[in-house]
Amino acid sequence: TRENADRHSVCIGWECALFDNRYNICLLFSISNMTFHFQCTLTREYPEYVKIIEVGPRDGLQNEKEMVPTRVKIQLINMLSETGLPVIEATSFVSSKWVPQMADHTEVLQAIHRSSHARYPVLTPNMHGFQDAVAAGATEVAVFGSASETFSQKNINCSIDDSMLRFEEVICTAKQQQIPVRGYVSCALGCPYEGPIEPTKVAEVVKRLYELGCYEVSLGDTIGVGTPGSMAKMLHYVMKEVPSSALAVHCHDTYGQALANILTALQMGICAVDSSVAGLGGCPYAQGASGNVSTEDVLYMLHGMGIKTGVDLSKVIEAGDFICKALKRKTNSKVAQARSKSS
Ligand SMILES: [Zn+2]
Repeated sequence: TRENADRHSVCIGWECALFDNRYNICLLFSISNMTFHFQCTLTREYPEYVKIIEVGPRDGLQNEKEMVPTRVKIQLINMLSETGLPVIEATSFVSSKWVPQMADHTEVLQAIHRSSHARYPVLTPNMHGFQDAVAAGATEVAVFGSASETFSQKNINCSIDDSMLRFEEVICTAKQQQIPVRGYVSCALGCPYEGPIEPTKVAEVVKRLYELGCYEVSLGDTIGVGTPGSMAKMLHYVMKEVPSSALAVHCHDTYGQALANILTALQMGICAVDSSVAGLGGCPYAQGASGNVSTEDVLYMLHGMGIKTGVDLSKVIEAGDFICKALKRKTNSKVAQARSKSS
């Protein structure tokens, strides 16, 4: 800078190189005719391993209008279990009056072949759902809250405060039975009714779920309106309250921002990502809300960055191909589309 130049300090060279996962930065400068060499190494802010939480069989299929046959759901989960995915959300123990597509939850949970390497959480919105889930053999459950008051009212028919009371009951009972509970916070980057949501509001709801005993809270961009800008801002506030090791991101690709948003989250220390095979899913309350980010596209990006997932991309593409054929639908995964063109 001019200020430094006035003090006879001149930067006479610099070099920045990326090796493996590290930036090596060298600066050469002189002050009053003496030369100094400054070197430092910065570790690139990406995790070595990212846990993928596959939500296709539940979040992806729950909004399908045509009933998906139970045997198709079971086969999809069985195929996903063969891919190395560490977590597969299997179904939802919500009232079949509200979500008819998940009415076969018990049958699905009992018929799947569980891999010893995978966990199979199920959604349990209340005590009734929790008890049914445990009776059906669930060993992990998830509760679904919202950062938006209006979305909470419309989606789960109660205020955020009331939903926390319900979750407290579920989480306490689960704890007694040593059943881990995962939490979801929807509308973390925007609500179909309220528009943008204050990051401090998101942080408050996430903190409550974490303090109630959720081992991990998934931050949902339910309608896919977020950008790396709003993701970074929201995480900044949430991470003041809850450690990054207890957070996951759940991105929808409505505006084509999902991978960029996930990358931003990884840079900030998040290492758990929700995704859905073939990009299944959508939100019935949000016009034009497209599916979850596809597991195939997330894997392609992570593996390209040298990040380990333990998941076999080709096998996920096969599972995606299977469910798309069953639904008579084109895949939402760009990677699967590209692979099918090239093969
Ligand atoms: Zn979703």
